[in-house]
Amino acid sequence: MILEVRAVAPFYKNGFVVACERTRQAVLIDPGDEIDELLGAVRDLDVDVQAVLLTHAHVDHITGVAAAKEAFDVPVYLHRDDQFLYDLAVQQGAMFGFKVRQPPPVDAYFGADPFLFGDYETHVHHTPGHCPGGVCLQIGRAGGTGRHLFVGDTLFAGSIGRTDLPGGDYGVLMRSITEVLFPLGDDAIVHPGHGPDTTIGRERTTNPFVLDYLKGI
Ligand SMILES: [Zn+2]
Ligand SMILES: [Zn+2]
Repeated sequence: MILEVRAVAPFYKNGFVVACERTRQAVLIDPGDEIDELLGAVRDLDVDVQAVLLTHAHVDHITGVAAAKEAFDVPVYLHRDDQFLYDLAVQQGAMFGFKVRQPPPVDAYFGADPFLFGDYETHVHHTPGHCPGGVCLQIGRAGGTGRHLFVGDTLFAGSIGRTDLPGGDYGVLMRSITEVLFPLGDDAIVHPGHGPDTTIGRERTTNPFVLDYLKGI
């Protein structure tokens, strides 16, 4: 699997290019302000982008969708429960003091079937709590167990997603982390929406927010 990550100021939100090394088919995950860097990576890797996949619709994760759509003319996928946030992109930007253009419409909602690109497939797990339509994109070889988890802002190395934004819910978030993400396996690699990679095992055993929560239930 080919994997490239880029992040720029002010949000330092991770945008990803994930591609099949054999077919060069690729997906873009969460294109934001670093879209120019992602477009450069796509050119350098000489891969063929098939879709834009969004872990959720907070503004820092979608400001690059328009440029991605312009460059590749491929479908944009989102969980249906985040459509309302996507529709509020301009207002979300204003909330953080940024002028943001409304991105082009979402083309499809994630369904039950895995999304295929080259020899790889993406399974979508609904992980609400940070926002209603948050998902974990589990990517790996078709027919295998995906070892790469693109979790958006649900779980970070040593931290968890904030739950004070519209539609956020602490209890729901913690259940998504412990009941949806943790069963995906200790050795699964976690690629958060911000900051460095981690693993499920490391977060399960050392994340202070998780340990606190598990003590209390
Ligand atoms: Zn977010
Ligand atoms: Zn974010």
